[in-house]
Amino acid sequence: MSRMLTDKHPCFSSQAQEQYARMHLPVAPRCNISCNYCSRKFDCVNESHPGVTSELLSPADALAKFEQVKAAIPNLSVVGIAGPGDALADWNETRETIELIKKKAPGMLFCLSTNGLLLPEYAPEIVKLGVRHITVTVNCTDPIVGAQIYGAVNYQGTRYVGAEGAEILLNNQQEGIMYLAGHGVAVKVNLVMIKMVNDWHMPAVVKKVKQLGACLTNIMPFIPAPGSVFSGLPQTNMRDVMAMRAVCNDELKQMTHCRQCRADAIGLLAKDRNSEFRNCVAAAPV
Ligand code: SF4
Ligand code: SF4
Repeated sequence: MSRMLTDKHPCFSSQAQEQYARMHLPVAPRCNISCNYCSRKFDCVNESHPGVTSELLSPADALAKFEQVKAAIPNLSVVGIAGPGDALADWNETRETIELIKKKAPGMLFCLSTNGLLLPEYAPEIVKLGVRHITVTVNCTDPIVGAQIYGAVNYQGTRYVGAEGAEILLNNQQEGIMYLAGHGVAVKVNLVMIKMVNDWHMPAVVKKVKQLGACLTNIMPFIPAPGSVFSGLPQTNMRDVMAMRAVCNDELKQMTHCRQCRADAIGLLAKDRNSEFRNCVAAAPV
């Protein structure tokens, strides 16, 4: 991983957050798994705050929006694809968007966030495409724990449930992280910390992803989404999250400045300008 590139990414480097802006382009609406904390009326929890919906863009519209934003925000350094579903479940749209923008702005950094199910399939292409930052959400390393978190995993045309589905997902996440980290991609891992479900398991996950080559983990509070399987569970309080981050910081660097942004966030992390650019190109409603 090039330190210089990561220094310009406001999420991977806390020093960069006041200097550099990022934009998320919502081009990937579908998902291939069912997290029990997810309500698909909202954005993917991988990289977004539950409770807000996003516009959807085609790759051509995404390019048009990028050009408007780049003209208005000269310190834009990162274009990310964070759903609103999974960036790899709509790989064609994700890839085409990056290719189009790369032609116009070769110096731009690209970032993806994913649940990791399709990483073994697409990691070589991700590297070839020049994506140098990726976020994978890994909530556990044990399929028995995973069976409580994931309702279903749709993989290669088959729907898997319980520990069987979780095992496929977890294996693919781990294989993908190892490949990407081994090929110079900065891998951040998001963990959704859910009380009595996987909170106790956080240190083991951090240890494992460090072994695989992740450079940063981001322990996030579980926030119950209306309509989700876990809607009745209590929100994880930030005090517990901070305490867990402090424990895990001995193992691996922790992100503490995540804003749980929308899939169409724009600007500095602390000052979202998404509303200024909403519908600035013809966009389909969600
Ligand atoms: Fe929802 Fe999970 Fe899919 Fe994200 S990865 S869209 S949280 S089901
Ligand atoms: Fe960065 Fe967190 Fe926002 Fe993603 S959700 S862009 S990691 S601050």
